[in-house]
This record gives sequence, C-alpha cells and structure tokens, in this order.
Amino acid sequence: MGGDLLFESDLVTSQTFIPVSRPSINAHDIEKVAEVLREGWVSGDAPIVAEFERAAAARVGRSFAIAVNSGTSALDIAVEASGIGANDEVILPSFTIVSCLNQVLRSGATPIFLDSDRNSWNVTAEAFLKALTPRTRLAIIPHIYGLPAEIDKIETICRERGITLIEDAAEGLGLELGSRRVGGFGDMTILSFYANKVVTTGEGGMVVTDNELLAEQLATLRNLGFSSRRRFVHETAAWVNRMPATAAALGLSQLNRFDELLADQRARGVHYDQLLDDTEGIRLPATDWLGTENIYWVFGVLLDKEKGLDAQTLMKRLENRGIGTRPFFFPLHRQPLLAKFGFQDQLALPIAEELGDFGLYLPSLGTSPEQRVYVAQSLQEALKIP
Ligand SMILES: *Cc1c(COP(=O)(O)O)cnc(C)c1O
Repeated sequence: MGGDLLFESDLVTSQTFIPVSRPSINAHDIEKVAEVLREGWVSGDAPIVAEFERAAAARVGRSFAIAVNSGTSALDIAVEASGIGANDEVILPSFTIVSCLNQVLRSGATPIFLDSDRNSWNVTAEAFLKALTPRTRLAIIPHIYGLPAEIDKIETICRERGITLIEDAAEGLGLELGSRRVGGFGDMTILSFYANKVVTTGEGGMVVTDNELLAEQLATLRNLGFSSRRRFVHETAAWVNRMPATAAALGLSQLNRFDELLADQRARGVHYDQLLDDTEGIRLPATDWLGTENIYWVFGVLLDKEKGLDAQTLMKRLENRGIGTRPFFFPLHRQPLLAKFGFQDQLALPIAEELGDFGLYLPSLGTSPEQRVYVAQSLQEALKIP
C-alpha cells in the first residue's frame, strides 16, 4: 500500500472510527429485554417468541412463522423442508451470501448459479428461465442490498413447473412489488434479524409461510426433531436453531417501530445518493427498480473497472481515514468450498465477478448526516489518488 497523502478531510474527522453499521437500540428495546430477564422465561419456549412470530407474520402477510437463531439457520431448515436431494438442481444467484448455498450442498443437490442484472445487481426472470432444466426442484431468490429481484415472475414460473421457491428477504424487508409485500412470495420466505438488518434481535432469523404442513416441519427441524408422538423420539436428525426469548423481546420492540426504522434506512441511502451524485469513477445503486424505490439496506458503490482501482485498495484508503466499509459478496460460483462437494470448473459469470472485485458498501446504519458527508468527501478524495 503506502503513498496515501493526508487530506483536508482528515482534519475534520472526529477521533472515532465510523463503523460500517451500528444498530439502533432505544430505551424501549432495553426495557423489553429487561422485562424478559426479570420474568426469567428466557428459552425459545417462552410466549414472547410466539408473540414475535405472530407480529412478524402479520407484517409480511403470512399465516405461519418459525423463529430461529439466524437467517442462515432459517435457510438451512427451509432448504431441508423443501425435500431436495441428490439428482435435484437448485437455482440461485452467484451474487449473494453463502447462507443460500450451504444446505443445498449438504443435501447433495447441484447448485445452478445465475448471473446478476447489471443495473439492479439482482436476478431476472429471463436469466432464471434459461437455467431451468427438468431436474430443477428448488429456487432460492434473495433481494440484494435494497432492490427487488423479479420474484413475481419467477414465482409464476415455479408454480407452473412445481418448483419450490424460497424467497430470501433478509435485505428486502419493507420492499413492495406491485401491490404485494416482499416476504409474501414463494412457498417460504426467510428473514434475518442480524445486527445490521433493519429489524435486529442481535442474532436471529425466521421462516414465514402460508403452508401449514411446511410450518410443522420447520418447527420440528429447528427443535431437535422432536415429534408430537413422544418427547425424545426423533424421526429426523435436526438442529437446535431456536430463538431465545431475550432476542424475541428485542425483535418485537424493534418491529413495533418498523416504519420509522425503514424510513431512516431509506433516508440514509437517499442522502448518500445526493452526496455522491455525479462522482466520477463510480456507479451508484439504482434509485428504483421494477417500479419500487430502493430501500438501501446498505449503500453500495461499484468502482469503474476501467479505472483499475479495486475495492480492496479503496477500502484500505477509507480505513486510513477512520471509515469502516465492507466488500460486496464474493461470487458463490468461485467459492473454494464448492470443490469439497465435487463441483469444479463453474462457468464465468462476469457481472457477479465484477461486483465481487469492484463493489463495496459504506457505513450507513447508525451514521449521522455529518458522518455521511465526511464519508462521501473521503470517498471522492480517495478516488482521486493516482
Ligand atoms: C444477512 C443475510 C442472510 C443471513 O442472515 P444471518 O442472520 O446473518 O445468518 C441471508 N441472506 C441474505 C441475503 C442476507 O443478507
């Protein structure tokens, strides 16, 4: 590295590092958690977990909800409940989190990776159609960084062909497509309540569904495979993925001010969009897509690859100015873990690869307007270093 100069903006920064995200926890959140602790019913069997499930299901218009300890666990049990196995193909984007892939690999099925759309960084129905084969049994479709995938069209295709569809709304909670809410597409939707998500429980996740049979299976899969026949009689090798009561209390309190949390998230993104408008050498996220406005789960920036500056170098420069960032996802079709499951020589997916090399996101959750001004200035200066 080396060679980075001191800039004017270094002088205006506070001494403190700006983390990439800091959750919004208020006095009410703290009181709700304290209540649970005082009552002493802290396990996943506590009534407040069921209460959080009902509230979350209502928020996205689903009939059933199964709270778990992470969004990744939610994907694990949802993929397991889909019943896929060897000889089946599962379609998912390359540009997403590895959580979408893990249980697909463990099940013995074959992942089929889609490239992303260049403008929305999400998958399209067109790409999905091209990837279909008679062996396709499951599709996992996330909404990335606050813009929607074409999941309405993909849902129709899946219905016609008897393909199970899991919607991953971890980053898309609050989006609407036409008259429908994200969280209500497909057979199951997974949510994440990780610390950087719009509603947080610290660590946590959920599967929501309208299918009662799936709901029962999911509840068993998160709870050691306990069957209704007799306690300690097990028909499946399942997980302990339960959500503790303290987490549910935090989640419930956060969910009660969802509209405010979402509006704040959007406003931070809109602010960055204004600050960085016309900055040379970068592409900003689309402000809207499929008739829906970006909810900016994070504010991603894509460097022009022609400039020859990659995301890792720029991130280092921003870190030197006290600014935390994250790189974009590393494409799944290039993950070393694929080889362990016998999958090698994946086809090139140029957009996912470009996003992986040249994308990063800026501090957003928990930032003040002044911090965002500083971040935007620093980014513009860091881009000018030869
Ligand atoms: C955060 C996230 C998950 C996983 O959630 P965790 O709670 O961190 O396990 C899954 N999918 C997407 C798209 C995410 O952003």
